Amino acid sequence: MLKLGLVGIGAIARKAHVPAIEGNAGLSLVAAASRNGTLDGVANYTTLTEMLAGSPEIEAVVLCVPPEPRFDMAREAIAAGRHVFLEKPPGVTVSEVHALAAAAKDAGVTLLASWHSRFAPGVETLRQRLFATPPTRVRVTWREDVRVYHPGQTWIWEPGGYGVFDPLINAFSILTYVLPRPFRAVSSRFEVPANCAQPIAANVLFRDTEGVEIACDASFDQPDPPTWDIVVETEAGTYHMQKGGAVLSHDGTVLVDEEEAEYANLYKLFAGLVQAGRSDVDVTPLAHVADCFLLAEHHSVAPFEESIPAPKT
Ligand code: NAP
Repeated sequence: MLKLGLVGIGAIARKAHVPAIEGNAGLSLVAAASRNGTLDGVANYTTLTEMLAGSPEIEAVVLCVPPEPRFDMAREAIAAGRHVFLEKPPGVTVSEVHALAAAAKDAGVTLLASWHSRFAPGVETLRQRLFATPPTRVRVTWREDVRVYHPGQTWIWEPGGYGVFDPLINAFSILTYVLPRPFRAVSSRFEVPANCAQPIAANVLFRDTEGVEIACDASFDQPDPPTWDIVVETEAGTYHMQKGGAVLSHDGTVLVDEEEAEYANLYKLFAGLVQAGRSDVDVTPLAHVADCFLLAEHHSVAPFEESIPAPKT
């Protein structure tokens, strides 16, 4: 039984982490640390420091806070000899993730930089197909309503908050896994609300080492339902991945259409890594985000308003 402490009891901790831990017989959730949130049936603390002092039996810490406070927390947990599971994205900068990987290695603990979208049901099939028949063109459409999927999450608009790249990095984590050749950003265009530090929309063009175009169109301003699609053209037909990877079809024939089990699989991976004494820290999706920010042309757009006031009568 691996004893876990969960930090940052917000949207994803409740929706995905708690059920996945409860569904894994090899894991036991013993404590939670959050300034405002609590969980039933476990010891609750306000900070990670208090949690490690009050529940010293914890062997691994899962960080579900937003990226900005995560580095210091991960350092603290690693220094205390605990294994660490990082929600995506693994940090605010590429270099802080390298520093965490080095610290985990020195301390002899496991570090997982998790990428939940890589465990979407259609991803493995698409990867195998594309290794057999490489792409000739790739189009990514990743559009959702931030008011629906991140209500009240002001951190997302602040420096280090990623803006629309918070969801788009999920697509990058799929692309970096399924595409058979490395690729690089060649252009990047951001729309940044006048009252925010981060983009609400982005258009990015990548090219792979054979010059194949990978075009990404992302927005946080599309009314529900969301579009989380990747279309891959090949000489053997077109693959269409929808619903973030839950559905995959080939020339209109459905190959995969399954309920997602992304976090159940992530926890299986984490438990296996701990058992094997290994880490899994792939910064490639984050490096692509960093490159998009380095290349970006910034265009200022109307201020972002989370709630539209009711019209005056
Ligand atoms: P969230 O609900 O806004 O944040 C999680 C919790 O972290 C908050 O409830 C808050 O709890 C704590 N927190 C926030 N800011 C903090 C700070 N500065 N210092 C310490 N604690 C802080 O966000 P979320 O949607 O769960 O996302 C968290 C992470 O999971 C992000 O990296 C996101 O990309 C990733 N993720 C989210 C989703 C999703 O659908 N929401 C899906 C996959 C991955 P307290 O106020 O109680 O401390």
